[in-house]
Amino acid sequence: MATSSDILYSVRNLTVEYETRHGVVKGVDDVSLDIRRGEILGLVGESGSGKSTLGKAMMRLRNGSARITSGELWFDGQNLMELSERQMRDLRGSRLGMVFQDPMTSLNPVQRIVEHLTETMLTHEPEWTEEEARARAEELVERLGIRRERVKDYPHQMSGGMRQRVMIALALALNCDLVIADEPTTSLDVIVEAKFLDLLKELRDEFNLTILLITHNIGVVAEVADRVAVMYAAKLVEIGDVNQVFEKPLHPYTEGLLKSVPNIELDSGALYKMEGSPPDLSSPPPGCRFHPRCPYMMEEVCPIYDPPFAPPEGASEDTRVACWLHHPHPQKVAIGA
Ligand code: SF4
Repeated sequence: MATSSDILYSVRNLTVEYETRHGVVKGVDDVSLDIRRGEILGLVGESGSGKSTLGKAMMRLRNGSARITSGELWFDGQNLMELSERQMRDLRGSRLGMVFQDPMTSLNPVQRIVEHLTETMLTHEPEWTEEEARARAEELVERLGIRRERVKDYPHQMSGGMRQRVMIALALALNCDLVIADEPTTSLDVIVEAKFLDLLKELRDEFNLTILLITHNIGVVAEVADRVAVMYAAKLVEIGDVNQVFEKPLHPYTEGLLKSVPNIELDSGALYKMEGSPPDLSSPPPGCRFHPRCPYMMEEVCPIYDPPFAPPEGASEDTRVACWLHHPHPQKVAIGA
């Protein structure tokens, strides 16, 4: 079980709200989560589940009209909610890095890659000379599988996979402790994706990087993550060791996600398709939010009571699930059975 010194980042009861035409909507609803030093934590869920909103909120970056309305963010013992925007900018420029789906939105199109890297390094390490920063930039891109002469390229001259690696190089240039990678492989073909995922594992081992990998593709998580957290309708519904979750998912939604992944080893015919679609967050269903789609739904419990996100009976704190199949039945509790 993880101790408090193993934890690099803690999210505590975080709620993020959006203003919409239909009123205020909770994009992240009372989420608590720990990320351990040196791990790759996969955060999965369908589009609109709140995972990207959570990732940005952890950097205290605004996502449209989203704003944090309650909760705490603790990074290496520091309460991020108490920092000024300037202090947060410094932290984002040093210890917290983010890799987005489309790196073009983060890279300046009129700046060469070498300028991106050396500027970042010289801001962070002002005692370095230009030559030292340039040599380090070349060394970094080469370590990430890009020929060193390509540092003279502009972002548009590189492929999507190379730009993703440049974003990682920027995080390494800063010696970031935590990298939040939001759908980093969505725009990559499967071969480049596999190489990128291998690279993430190597970097985690070599630089002791901690990585939060946000993806809609649970298959990607299987490739690289140590643990997996599953989000549904703005809430976390399951978290656990990746092998345990993949072998024996506890939440019916996780089970559905896993069954939806193509498996060439199983001659299972048509691909499983989960019934229904995620709820409209402006009026989520009462009780368990997954109940309208759940094959195990219990009429007398699930549409009425919201399940706690807690370890199942008899399990350690490392595993948590929000499903009445794994917690004492509220009616039984009420009558003391
Ligand atoms: Fe299904 Fe009920 Fe569990 Fe929700 S609480 S996932 S509806 S069994």
